[in-house]
Amino acid sequence: MIVSMKRFATKEDIASVCERIRDFGYKIHAIEGEERVVIGVVGVGDVTQCLESLEAMPSVENAVRISAPYKFVSKEFRKGRSVIRVNGNVEIGGDDMVVMAGPCSVESEKQIMESAHAVAKAGAKVLRGGAFKPRTSPYDFQGMAEEGLKLLRKAKQETGLAIVTEVMSDADVPLVAEYADLMQIGARNMQNFALLKSLGTCGRPVLLKRGLSSTIKELLMSAEYIVAHGNPNVILCERGIRTFETATRNTCDLVAVPVLNEMTHLPVVIDPSHATGKRSLVPALSRAAVAIGADGLIVEVHPCPEKAVSDGAQSLHLPEFEKMMNSLRGYVELWKESRMALAAAV
Ligand code: PEP
Ligand code: MN
Repeated sequence: MIVSMKRFATKEDIASVCERIRDFGYKIHAIEGEERVVIGVVGVGDVTQCLESLEAMPSVENAVRISAPYKFVSKEFRKGRSVIRVNGNVEIGGDDMVVMAGPCSVESEKQIMESAHAVAKAGAKVLRGGAFKPRTSPYDFQGMAEEGLKLLRKAKQETGLAIVTEVMSDADVPLVAEYADLMQIGARNMQNFALLKSLGTCGRPVLLKRGLSSTIKELLMSAEYIVAHGNPNVILCERGIRTFETATRNTCDLVAVPVLNEMTHLPVVIDPSHATGKRSLVPALSRAAVAIGADGLIVEVHPCPEKAVSDGAQSLHLPEFEKMMNSLRGYVELWKESRMALAAAV
């Protein structure tokens, strides 16, 4: 349930509305807005009586039930779009289309530094690189763990790029949060509920990737876990889903971007690397992602993909990445125009 207060509502009015809500046994989830305060309420059971009682209070403008099961990430909760601050320099969901790029795995100091300098020069704002790797085979490279995180920090110090890196278990959340500006939850962990809950209090924004066989509604329910546990800063990522098609590693559900834009206020980015599994397809899918209105891209690159320990086939060579960034420029200009037009129309 969402309770909108009248413009003139005082602190005392807000407190008495909160008290009434608690009397009914519901919990206050969030109080938002400066000029016009909106109170988010959660709880089980029929809210009809509580709604009626609140609407009878003179300081209450209206109280509405949220029908979607994903309440706080729904458009009903917030009509506009959420802008998620990644660090001091980077916002996702705002006026800029943000590119995150880097290798699949952090492998060595030389590899991550070369990648970081190249992607920064080409215009990326965030460096990706996995230090904890979810691998299908237990015999494959599992990541450099904290050593990898330290290298990411060094790359950040040298280039000013923000860092996005994956966290695979709730036990590692405090450690990864020390180094990451944005906590990546991989497709395989989209429904690791213990992990999602622990991100509620990690103090960092979260990049939540869609599960290999997850529906859009399930993705939103997973985002709701993080928000309901105290962290409103979630960015969604479409990275391709598993279908009968074998020509690409996954099938990119591009229309998930406008679908999600209708269902949620959270930003949505596209991962063209895992979506295709093939580097030759990454530039075309990136252009399409920008054209359809994604808030950003997360792209795999490598100084020498032939020698990469993971996902070499889908990683762009560094000069290819620069070329792609240049070729995206015109699309990004159009993206900005349509973003401004949309904002003006609201
Ligand atoms: C990755 O980003 O390297 C990764 C493992 O992605 P996903 O979880 O989407 O498979
Ligand atoms: Mn990868």
